[in-house]
Amino acid sequence: MWTLVLNCGSSSVKFALLNLDDDRVGLTGLAERLGSAGASARLDMEGERRTADLRGGSYAEAFAVLAGALDELGVRTQVGAVGHRVVHGGERFHAPVRLTDEVLGEIRACVPLAPLHNPANIAGIEAAQAAFPDAAHVAVFDTAFHQTMPEVAYRYPVPGDWYRQHGVRRYGFHGTSHAYVAARAAQDLGRPLAELNLVTAHLGNGCSVCAVQGGRSVDTSMGLTPLEGLVMGTRSGDVDPGLHDYIARQAGLSLSEVTSALNKESGLLGLSGLSNDMRELEEAAGRGHAGARLALDVFVYRLAKQMAGMAVALGRVDALVFTGGIGENSAAVRGAVLARLGVLGAAVDDEANRAAVRGQAGRISAPGALAALVVNTDEERMIAEQTRALLAGVSA
Ligand code: AMP
Repeated sequence: MWTLVLNCGSSSVKFALLNLDDDRVGLTGLAERLGSAGASARLDMEGERRTADLRGGSYAEAFAVLAGALDELGVRTQVGAVGHRVVHGGERFHAPVRLTDEVLGEIRACVPLAPLHNPANIAGIEAAQAAFPDAAHVAVFDTAFHQTMPEVAYRYPVPGDWYRQHGVRRYGFHGTSHAYVAARAAQDLGRPLAELNLVTAHLGNGCSVCAVQGGRSVDTSMGLTPLEGLVMGTRSGDVDPGLHDYIARQAGLSLSEVTSALNKESGLLGLSGLSNDMRELEEAAGRGHAGARLALDVFVYRLAKQMAGMAVALGRVDALVFTGGIGENSAAVRGAVLARLGVLGAAVDDEANRAAVRGQAGRISAPGALAALVVNTDEERMIAEQTRALLAGVSA
């Protein structure tokens, strides 16, 4: 059976077609700039890249192009399942779930918690249900993995009614990636996941760390929204909650303008005044750009502090795990973080660290030190595996 994995954002859809029975990838692709005149799709299949203009720029049009490609591959009728990435499942969803009208209604009820993401996920699901009516559609939530966090980790010290009436608590995100890399790390370490205490760091454009105990999330750095925690490409991560009122008054900004600046103009971009892209910043820092150097230093310092904090949630740490575009490629960031985590017994093996780039995963810790691993994340595969497991009646 083929499983189609869809990740619908507000202006893009990422897709992947996977066959888990014989480990084949049928196609991968991306439709971009949806909703605008320049919308287009690219598909990588059978070793070739195809592109198509999407004049109307709608999800329906993107899925029509995708359906045409499935016809060409001769697999459209064999697509038994569609796994959808859904960002926010609130407290309602602890695991993947088959999409029914009732479930869609509950995802809609989570829109106030994720006003940028859930509406796009819902629109994508509805268009995909129309385009692939014979397949079973399954929602896989970014938040679900973190529903095992204990109350001490998920409650904010704010008025209790904010939690009870408005759902103000920590939810966490990137759950699919943290769950996947934790399981892969256990395989790489040759030990059962159930016995391991891991600190996983997903470092991409968005960044979060997670404390994974026996395969279950017990704490994570993102909270009510994906803005909490680490320094990210354009997101600030943790700031003083008093900042909003102060800067709103000083700079004459509205609350939503402050929130937008914390999401889109902060993080690596805000600190460096140059870029949100780690590659560019590493190059610029190498040339002596002071802002780029500062951005890297703050990124690493705060990341190390958060990873060390996860040791409190775990009690004992068996391994540190790096993933995401930065985690899988930046030997400089990993080396600097491990140097700061000597307090946990971490130490880097420079040669192994330099070698673990561009898809080369592996152990990067010095002999005898706390284990540190690079693991390539694969959220599409994890969504496909969870979708298949749900439909087969077992938990992944
Ligand atoms: P992702 O969101 O997982 O695609 O990750 C995007 C981030 O990974 C961006 O900050 C990229 O600059 C960073 N990245 C990708 N490749 C490299 C590399 N070779 N060295 C450093 N950072 C990289």
